[in-house]
Amino acid sequence: PEEKSLNFIEEIVEKDLESGKYKSIVTRFPPEPNGYLHIGHATSINLNFGLAKKYGGYTNLRFDDTNPATEETEYVESIKEDVRWLGFEWKNEHFASDYFEQLYEFAVRLIKKGLAYVDDSTSEEIAALKGTPTEPGKASPFRERSTEENLRLFEEMREGKHPDGARVLRAKVDMASPNMIMRDPILYRIKHAHHHRTGDKWSIYPMYDMAHPPSDSIEEVTHSLCTMEFVPHRELYDWLLQHLDTFPSHQYEFARRNLSYTVMSKRKLLQLVNEGHVDGWDDPRMPTISGMRRRGYPPEAINEFCERIGIAKRDNLVDVGLLEFCVREHLNKIALRRMVVFDPLKVVITNYTGSNEFLEGEDNPEDDKSESREIPFGKELYIEREDFMENPPKKYFRLFPGGMVRLKHAYIIKCDEAIKDENGNVTELRCTYIPESKSGHDTSGINVKGTLHWVEVTNAITAEVRLYDRLFKVEDPSNEEGDFKDYINADSLQTVATAYAEPALKAAKLAERYQFLRKGYFTLDNKETHGRLVFNRTVTLKDAWAK
Ligand code: ATP
Ligand code: MG
Ligand code: MG
Repeated sequence: PEEKSLNFIEEIVEKDLESGKYKSIVTRFPPEPNGYLHIGHATSINLNFGLAKKYGGYTNLRFDDTNPATEETEYVESIKEDVRWLGFEWKNEHFASDYFEQLYEFAVRLIKKGLAYVDDSTSEEIAALKGTPTEPGKASPFRERSTEENLRLFEEMREGKHPDGARVLRAKVDMASPNMIMRDPILYRIKHAHHHRTGDKWSIYPMYDMAHPPSDSIEEVTHSLCTMEFVPHRELYDWLLQHLDTFPSHQYEFARRNLSYTVMSKRKLLQLVNEGHVDGWDDPRMPTISGMRRRGYPPEAINEFCERIGIAKRDNLVDVGLLEFCVREHLNKIALRRMVVFDPLKVVITNYTGSNEFLEGEDNPEDDKSESREIPFGKELYIEREDFMENPPKKYFRLFPGGMVRLKHAYIIKCDEAIKDENGNVTELRCTYIPESKSGHDTSGINVKGTLHWVEVTNAITAEVRLYDRLFKVEDPSNEEGDFKDYINADSLQTVATAYAEPALKAAKLAERYQFLRKGYFTLDNKETHGRLVFNRTVTLKDAWAK
């Protein structure tokens, strides 16, 4: 097999295993349960679970639930469902909130070592003394508080004796550090808020820097992988674990992945949901995992996409075309071929004398083990209205008066006459078929250039079809002038209320994928549709946006 070169995180892991720094590796995936997972998270999931799998370690799922205001249990459940759906299984499930008691003890340990103090300054006063990157900060007037007083005040904060914002606990590091994060960062703040798991037990909550590194250390995570914006936090990460004298976890950073023609920040996605621009977090146009699932993206295609883009050190915008390419590639291999007419034009075969007959159509020509289905044929058919032209241009290979086409899996037909209503609209085509031209047994000797999809009228079933396009009109809506919502694509959903499908689709299943011939890839909608068949277009057959 072809040797793939290692990425920079794999290089670090291999070095650490070779040198014996760690015997095996432990990674974690640490979502904050304040929204649904999106495709950016999928890259992090693939990285964390992929490393553990490759090097024989394991991965924990840890909910980073230290911010009581924005977190909800609904999000916890959706995150678990999405990680599993992508095909990954975590070893242990943890909540940062399970460590609140232990984190409190760690904070007390820092106070006792003279490495943390309670500061009564307002956030404005703290900011004013922070200095600038080129100018050192100044010490807070509370920096030299006695250990006893710090311990007493910190306990009172915990007991809820002080209002929100009255005091904070800060690490005592270095107000002159060139790294602004090291200028006595805030470790705890007072927040009288209800937490989705701990209820009203706590009135203080740890900040990210106090919660994340110790949580990694408690779980003996070896390689803690986060995105680039945490690079300046690494120094504090190391400082904390060194002074707490706990398991030496290490932080490594990789670039965020953003996708073109969408937004990825959970805050923005939440706005789209709350303001009704989309039909929930799992709207098929959303870049969320649940949206992609509902749209019909196979998890294998999402993982293949993550594999292909790999990891980087610089944040960048990835072309959504690459994701769609991965989806098409996978669906081409597994999708069952079916015929569906979106905008019907009736065709009457005037020389067809029998009642219906049943033709055979292969389910998937790309799959050796593919079976076939029966397709009824008869005197009255529907073709796509756009497949007929009364006055065609040169080289028009579809149907026109006097012209011939092949009907897929069936016969060659010739159009003899177009019937019109009083307004001149074509309402029906009168055609003749060539009985010797049956697909697979064609002895007619006639060559035609065009092949059309069609359905037989009396056996056709109806379905609703939803056609999705990009949710935004511009490549990077977050980087445009004004509000990102100004760039929403108003035509991102078109609904075909009544499409006509061949009867094999009566047995459509959620787990199956379909290619509607000449129309694209489709999947059943996974929402309650009250007995109606509703199909979502997953992706077009070709990249309609390619230049
Ligand atoms: P958001 O700004 O959308 O809230 P976040 O980073 O705060 O993103 P978390 O729930 O904290 O979201 O993310 C969990 C993990 O997924 C983190 O380790 C984070 O680094 C990673 N992650 C989130 N977004 C991306 C992305 N776009 N690309 C790569 N990794 C990401
Ligand atoms: Mg966030
Ligand atoms: Mg986060």
